[in-house]
Amino acid sequence: MLSAEIIAIGSELLTPRFIDTNSIYLTEQLNAIGIPVVTKSIVGDDENYLEHAIRASLQRTPILITTGGLGPTEDDVTRKVLARLLQRQLILNNEVLAKIESRFKARGVAMPSNNARQALVLAGSDILPNNHGTAPGLWISHEKNHIVLLPGPPSELKPMFEQACLPRLQELAGGVVLARSVYRTTGLAESTLDARIAPIYTKYKNPETTILAKPGAVDVRLTARAKTRQEAEMLLKELGGQIDESLDDFIFARSEQSIEEVVGMLLVLKNATIAVAESCTGGLVSELLTNVAGSSAYFMSGVVVYSNESKMELTGIPPLLLEMQGAVSAEVARGLADGIRERARTTIGVGITGIAGPAGGSPEKPVGTVHIAVAAPAGTQHRQFLFPGDRLRVRRQAAQAALDQVRRLLLAM
Ligand code: AMP
Ligand code: MG
Repeated sequence: MLSAEIIAIGSELLTPRFIDTNSIYLTEQLNAIGIPVVTKSIVGDDENYLEHAIRASLQRTPILITTGGLGPTEDDVTRKVLARLLQRQLILNNEVLAKIESRFKARGVAMPSNNARQALVLAGSDILPNNHGTAPGLWISHEKNHIVLLPGPPSELKPMFEQACLPRLQELAGGVVLARSVYRTTGLAESTLDARIAPIYTKYKNPETTILAKPGAVDVRLTARAKTRQEAEMLLKELGGQIDESLDDFIFARSEQSIEEVVGMLLVLKNATIAVAESCTGGLVSELLTNVAGSSAYFMSGVVVYSNESKMELTGIPPLLLEMQGAVSAEVARGLADGIRERARTTIGVGITGIAGPAGGSPEKPVGTVHIAVAAPAGTQHRQFLFPGDRLRVRRQAAQAALDQVRRLLLAM
């Protein structure tokens, strides 16, 4: 099976200040066409270490992609090391030189003489044009190996990779195309969800189904392999359609969107506004909602009403109600939702109260008990939950459930 290795070259990448993001990008791209990355490394601008790293790679992995070290300065040694290792000459390529010169001319400056170094090309290699910088990339086929040299700056590497390398790698990979889809759900436990859809997806080896659980949400991911994109998409559609039908309105997104983004979109669509009064989630729902760009169009206000006094003061809950029902109750959740909606003059008000733990539970109200109410023009809906897990997990699940309750209400509006 075809596999690849990545070497990120540059001494700056060995300091705490720079992160090798190129290899993450490349891994994603390679995986998408069915080529696994079997190992990757970072090597400084050092001829000896680089030579060792490349020599070892050529012995074990059919494809090597290097990034960086193609610059015009003395410390950029990638070309030189490969020429020595493969015993090939470095030849000045006039076409490349003319292109580099014209880039400088277009900016109104004379080309510094050391930039001519970037026009040095390994004999017998293919030039990968750089339309966003000076150094071209190189593709070298050597015996059983393919060695691809790419420039370091991500703005140059990405377009070069997509235009000049991807099609070629795809061909090497035997034309395998991967297509992916995702169904993001909330409201069903992982095991419940799996019991529902396992009878469907276990019938298929292709697409492959993976289930990924996070606090308050479970993603179902499908990956299809085929000879053409069209065929892969067809496979996705066949299985995806059945999963979609089975999970129905537990699905909040059919793309990488988060639930707060979906809620934001629905609020815009319905021309509605929202305000939140949170006790046990401590502002988490407000944070999630305001993480979304453009949320100022619909998010009016969020208050953290942790104490009984603040519940009374900021949402107008009657003292007697708190006394009679206790702060963690359906009535108080309703009171918070109604109160914040009225005071913030929004379409929707959300009230959350519960026991995140670890202390504060009782036999009647164990840790994990959360009441969520959503107030809207048509009335106020309340739900009671008992979430498992530690404090952080209870808070996250509560926030997710509150957003889901809003989502469902908006869908019905
Ligand atoms: P070079 O081709 O080595 O001259 O790289 C030029 C610049 O590209 C470096 O100074 C970095 O800013 C950037 N760069 C190099 N390697 C990487 C990498 N692996 N990930 C992200 N940026 C990089
Ligand atoms: Mg460098």
